[in-house]
Amino acid sequence: MERTQPGQSEPSPAKGPMLTPELITPDNSGKLHVFRNVALESIWGLLEHCQLRSLMLDEPLMEKNQDNRHLYVVLQGELKVFLDAEFIQAVATLSAGQTVGELSVIDGSITSAYVKALEPSIVLRIDQDTFWRMVRASHEFCANIMVMLSARMRSNNYSLVEGNRLQGKYQLEAITDGLTGINNRAWLNKKLPSLVSRAERDHHPLSLFMLDVDHFKRFNDRYGHAAGDTVLKFVAQVLSSNVRPLDMTARYGGEEFCVILPYTNSSGARLAAERLLKVLAETAMPEEGSESLPNITVSIGVASIQEGEHWETLIKRADDALYMAKKNGRNRIEMAEGGNAAQGPVH
Ligand code: GH3
Ligand code: MG
Ligand code: MG
Repeated sequence: MERTQPGQSEPSPAKGPMLTPELITPDNSGKLHVFRNVALESIWGLLEHCQLRSLMLDEPLMEKNQDNRHLYVVLQGELKVFLDAEFIQAVATLSAGQTVGELSVIDGSITSAYVKALEPSIVLRIDQDTFWRMVRASHEFCANIMVMLSARMRSNNYSLVEGNRLQGKYQLEAITDGLTGINNRAWLNKKLPSLVSRAERDHHPLSLFMLDVDHFKRFNDRYGHAAGDTVLKFVAQVLSSNVRPLDMTARYGGEEFCVILPYTNSSGARLAAERLLKVLAETAMPEEGSESLPNITVSIGVASIQEGEHWETLIKRADDALYMAKKNGRNRIEMAEGGNAAQGPVH
């Protein structure tokens, strides 16, 4: 153990750092939270039991999931705290006056992080027994530890809240189409099975549109990809705002969209599809720069669930009907076989 008495100074370079009052107070006292307002005389005898340790740049001080019976106080330099051994992103930086290891010293738990020096640093190592004696010897030391722990809890709470917020954001992004902001195919694959099962269980009708922009490749070639993107956003917006609140829209992929219409039989779905064709024909396209864009048309395949039908078969039938709508000239609706096909195509 290397130490000096209060008032002694001049550390010997050959022996490494020496514990001097100057290292802790008074010049540093503003920074050394853990010793703030602590009358050094009251704990100096205990500090004699502590060790000073010099850390080189990048030198590890602590590993995760280890037994630890020491509290470390940073006296000089800076340490970084990492949650994983790749050391890519530090979760905290500890500067002079901050402590690490106090949780395992207080409750005997194993360490929860890796700690290493960000620059050449000096830390004071206080063993468990000495720590508790300091707590008993100095109210101020005890209060400082409490303040530091509550600050850490507060920041942990913040991290938890932030983590939850990010998790929600990523979950939402995973089911949302980046271009149009409506649901994506992953959402459809997740949602449709339960909607179909519920409709079958409760004997409610349910219909589905597959909708595809006509000659979209030609449109892209003529007006550019950015204008094409504008069209997709426009179609998504028209779909969303011209179906009933209970209906759900999704971008199935490319220039193909899907609308789920719960509680809607094939004739109701047909009316809804007709309304969409009409709105798309009548609503002016947004301008792309100074260029005004011509209206686009879409083709729609409509299918309504049949008894015991699997949700994928429902999509397949709507898709086949869409194919027929394309084949029969585009800008039209075809009802899937097995639905209300008797009414024939709408143009
Ligand atoms: P059809 O009437 O038979 O549907 O013909 P189409 O040209 O619409 O269909 P095709 O499948 O030949 O072309 C689809 C085009 O959609 C080609 C592709 O570049 C374009 N596309 C797919 N996704 C996007 C996108 O996110 N943005 C833009 N601008 N274009 C897209
Ligand atoms: Mg198309
Ligand atoms: Mg297509």
